[in-house]
Amino acid sequence: MEPDTAPPRVDPAAIERIASLRRERDAVILAHSYQPPEIQDLADFVGDSLELSRAAAATPHRTVVLCGVRFMAETAYILAPEKTILMPAPDAGCPLAGCMTPEDLVAMQESFPGALPVVYVNSGVELKALAYSCCTSANAAAVVEAVPADEIIFGPDRNLGLFVERRTRKRMRIFPGSCPPHARLTAGDIALARASWPDAEVLVHPETPPECWDAADHVLGTGGMIARVAASGASRFIVGTEEGMCYRLGRLFPGREFRTAGSIHCPNMKKTTPGLVASALESMETAVRFDESLRAAAHASVMRMASIG
Ligand code: SF4
Repeated sequence: MEPDTAPPRVDPAAIERIASLRRERDAVILAHSYQPPEIQDLADFVGDSLELSRAAAATPHRTVVLCGVRFMAETAYILAPEKTILMPAPDAGCPLAGCMTPEDLVAMQESFPGALPVVYVNSGVELKALAYSCCTSANAAAVVEAVPADEIIFGPDRNLGLFVERRTRKRMRIFPGSCPPHARLTAGDIALARASWPDAEVLVHPETPPECWDAADHVLGTGGMIARVAASGASRFIVGTEEGMCYRLGRLFPGREFRTAGSIHCPNMKKTTPGLVASALESMETAVRFDESLRAAAHASVMRMASIG
């Protein structure tokens, strides 16, 4: 079985346009770990969604090209409204973020009036604005523990909610949403991958179903996966998250081998191309913006998330 480290699709003309436009526009290019190899290669920084937002807020550049999906560009704008946040592929949505509406949250609040809402950062800005706090996959359990209520409404990802439920004594009221690519992974996929690479360590994301956590060696967000590989003596890893992560790990750890368990491919993450990055910088027309009162309401819950490791 071959490792999943597909070579980047080279587009020299677009790369050349980007090189001059990034200076002209005073731009920094940020890419999520699930982006295609050629986008990770041209980015100034690759990271998870919280790291990208923090990088957008910290950068001295006036323009941020956010290569990811819409909720990531929204979160960057929430933290850095004075900057122009461009989305090269403005139609790159996230089915998980879109599956829970503000009306769904209000209905849950009516059913559980004593509960405080925590929403995964993979959610729309309107949901973030209604939440007490956001969380990442890495700090979800710590955020839930820190919320001043014994009952928590959690969404949109059911699997992450169940993962937190195993780690807290708080009463969890979990919305039944999911990330389609991650939710498709099965324990059978992991068993098959292990049969091919019996010496490999298996790392899975908490957005995968609970049966996958039980079949894996570690359940981690993408940042945790990087830390685990750095600490591990293993030379092969089976990775239960989006395939772009294998390319990222391969770049960070040359000499080790990575492959996905099953097939976890997010079509929205693959919409960004070097040509679209160049066009976004040329036209400056795909900036993410929204109403200041909405941004300010969402800012409070994002900052609670950012304050917890
Ligand atoms: Fe959304 Fe899942 Fe794609 Fe991430 S991998 S952007 S959570 S659909």
